[in-house]
Amino acid sequence: MHHLLEPASWNDLKSWLAERGQPAFRAAQIRKWVFERRAESFEAMSDLPKVLRGELAAEFTLWTTTLARHLKSSDGTEKLLLELGGPPRNATEGVPYSAGRIECVLLRDGERRSICISTQVGCAMGCVFCASGLDGVERNLATGEIVEQMLRLQRLLPGDERLSHIVVMGMGEPLANLDHLLPALEEAGADDGLAISHRRITISTVGLPKPLLRLCEENARYNLAVSLHAPTDELRTRIVPTNKSTGLADILAAADRYFDVSGRRLTFEYVLLAGLNDQPQHAHQLVDLLAGRTALLNVIPYNPVVGLPYATPSGNAVNRFREILIAGGINVKFRQRKGDDINAACGQLRRSAPGRTDLQSVQ
Ligand code: SAH
Repeated sequence: MHHLLEPASWNDLKSWLAERGQPAFRAAQIRKWVFERRAESFEAMSDLPKVLRGELAAEFTLWTTTLARHLKSSDGTEKLLLELGGPPRNATEGVPYSAGRIECVLLRDGERRSICISTQVGCAMGCVFCASGLDGVERNLATGEIVEQMLRLQRLLPGDERLSHIVVMGMGEPLANLDHLLPALEEAGADDGLAISHRRITISTVGLPKPLLRLCEENARYNLAVSLHAPTDELRTRIVPTNKSTGLADILAAADRYFDVSGRRLTFEYVLLAGLNDQPQHAHQLVDLLAGRTALLNVIPYNPVVGLPYATPSGNAVNRFREILIAGGINVKFRQRKGDDINAACGQLRRSAPGRTDLQSVQ
């Protein structure tokens, strides 16, 4: 079975159609059903000959995952828990298919319809406060599995609404799976794909200098967000263990290079953890670190993760932190928390669903 959402499948589909004497426009017609008309199955592609629909379904599959759970938050956020499936014949090379679960999220904010997608099953980075890395990483997602998250979330929208933004901020470290992520983002940006402008796609990374420099060379069209979380190496290594081998200086140099190449304002993310990195001295150090950069500092008050010993700072501590940054001339934004009642907020996505039963479950 071919997974149609793997980019290579579209070529396979073209030759498969040609072998059956189908007109050349069929492939484009099918793409339109998949990306624009939101078909759930080949059967639903009502302007294709009935026999062809059956043959397509025998050879190609649209979905490799199954929906394990669908949660809706009171603020309009929706989260899908997807069970990964068996191996389609043309899965991205080097990705052994195995069972596993991933989560992805639809966020509604005014006119915006943003999705937050995962790139790995679990995460190897081990940031001490984040749920996604609690059990380590199992594997990279295939390109088709990343595209599949986009299309499943798109199908939650009413027909007159479109996805407007993508944040690659779900489970996993995107720069550890660039080979499969970049082709998926191509599909998101393509005119005959989801047609979402590259300017509305953001990749969030823990900060891996080497793949970041590769991204500078190959494709600096996306917004980049770097998870900083501390102004000094000493503190950052305690919060973000990978910092031990990367170090702040190299990360910032690579981020600056990305800014030079892309001309896009950088975003730095900073999760505020009570008593750990939320003190006035940290704010002053941040001002020194970021002064002179064209950057936005996105401060995220910690979203609690069951079982972890970290806490959200008090309103006072957050305000004090904010005022020092503003006085220091830093462009700062405090991120609104969304979907925390369904564990869909930043850092709450994980490999296995915690057993909560008190939520409105759609499925
Ligand atoms: N691996 C990528 C994407 C992670 S999620 C990265 O590290 O950037 C996006 C952001 O949410 C990151 O800045 C991450 O550090 C942050 N985050 C993780 N856990 C969080 C939590 N419990 N509360 C608030 N933000 C969290």
